[in-house]
Amino acid sequence: VKVLVVGGGAGGMAAASRAKRLMPDADVTVVEKSNWVSFALCGIPYLAGCTIKRLDQLLHYKLEVFTKKRGINILLQHEVVDVDVSARTARIVDLRNGKETTLEWDKLVIATGARSRATSIWPEIEEMDNVFYIKHIDTGDAIRRYALRPGVEKAVIVGSGYVGMEMAENLVALGLKVTIVEAMDTIVPNALDPEISRDLQAHIESKGVKVITGSPVREFRGDKGRASSIVTDNGEIEGDIFIVGVGIEPNTALARAMGLRIGETGAVWTDDKMMTSAEDVFAVGDVAEHKDLVTGRRVWRPFAQIANKMGYVAGSVIGGREASFPGSVGTSAFKVFDLAVARTGLTRREAEAAGFKPVEVELAGSTKPHYMPGGSEIKLKVVADEDTGRILGGQALGDDSAFWRVNVLAGLITAGATVWDLFFTDLGYAPPLSPVWDPLVVAARLLMRKLGEKPRY
Ligand SMILES: Cc1cc2nc3c(=O)[nH]c(=O)nc-3n(C[C@H](O)[C@H](O)[C@H](O)COP(=O)(O)OP(=O)(O)OC[C@H]3O[C@@H](n4cnc5c(N)ncnc54)[C@H](O)[C@@H]3O)c2cc1C
Repeated sequence: VKVLVVGGGAGGMAAASRAKRLMPDADVTVVEKSNWVSFALCGIPYLAGCTIKRLDQLLHYKLEVFTKKRGINILLQHEVVDVDVSARTARIVDLRNGKETTLEWDKLVIATGARSRATSIWPEIEEMDNVFYIKHIDTGDAIRRYALRPGVEKAVIVGSGYVGMEMAENLVALGLKVTIVEAMDTIVPNALDPEISRDLQAHIESKGVKVITGSPVREFRGDKGRASSIVTDNGEIEGDIFIVGVGIEPNTALARAMGLRIGETGAVWTDDKMMTSAEDVFAVGDVAEHKDLVTGRRVWRPFAQIANKMGYVAGSVIGGREASFPGSVGTSAFKVFDLAVARTGLTRREAEAAGFKPVEVELAGSTKPHYMPGGSEIKLKVVADEDTGRILGGQALGDDSAFWRVNVLAGLITAGATVWDLFFTDLGYAPPLSPVWDPLVVAARLLMRKLGEKPRY
């Protein structure tokens, strides 16, 4: 069997590794247009900020682990430019010398990831040396090198998503004065409800980051290949280095050219086996959409943990196993200046938009009993459905335990649990680790006041 995987990121390498493990005799080839496979894009902000010293530390596994130990063929700096679905061939270009070859395949995995929307919004930045948007792991290196140049003092981050938050912390660590400019009225607007966003904003402002919200950026100004300012609806902001983190889109060019069905989210449609509309063609990772387990709707969630699992499922199916990817509940997290922020399921606004009648509680709880040193305040929000008591979502902000508390909610939401299930979930307790009435249990208790004491099973 010949398995061809296009893209050597999280999804592609998971699919290739799983297929090869299940079919040791198969000919498994990964074609990757960059110089790396199995890289951690998520580490880019920390490479920029010197927490991680060298780019090669961002590789999960060395190339030899795949080629020698696992027996996977890897073509680096090669791009798949065309796929003939009926002939089952792929045209590949060696980017080092332009040479073309054709590979045959029996099973094909499209794992081409996502790309920044920056240049489609502001084409002028393509020519500007001091404007950065994430292309690949080397962008982290490039940002660091530019940020450490003499005379580079003011950094402007356009967009306050996860990347914007992480970059802010890392550029402050390099000694820069950082301003974040956000078009919407609150920061991280696509992931967090305003109450949580406001606390987050206060926190990063307390660390010296200037936050300007409600200010869509109209254009970048500058000359001689260098930006000097951005023009927003509320005036001009000068800077020495600019980072653009305004969102990404699925990299569907190849899939579209192949005629694969594109789903309602704009990503490649697949079934729960990660099969596309074409026979023996799979799509995994950021290029593919999937099902939301709370609403049942199609969603596009470009996250590494999802890409890995989709790759595992595609590789398993190719290897002849029964496997399916059920969907996700939308769990994501980041940490900025020691503050962990996490969310899962639906925000209140999303729950309303999906037709639920959401009830929510928001509380500030302590992470440890009052008598234990080292406790801190955590802000927790839980959203439930008024009709059924089903937990729909949660958000938390605080020390690292905010992250695990949201992960507990993620597990319960995945299982379709209710607020009564949350109340009786047997969370462990020990004074150095948590209070006996954990904030999660308190949240359930408060929701039970609204929904009734008795479970509605
Ligand atoms: C700065 C940053 C921080 C992030 N932080 C987090 C985080 O904290 N948590 C989280 O869950 N996720 C995070 N993510 C998202 C996560 O990195 C992605 O979800 C994950 O990398 C998706 O894996 P993938 O295999 O689908 O795509 P990718 O990892 O993007 O890999 C796709 C690969 O395909 C290659 N390719 C594309 N087209 C072709 C072609 N025609 N021929 C050959 N090769 C091709 C590309 O060069 C690329 O290497 C972050 C992403 C970024 C950029």
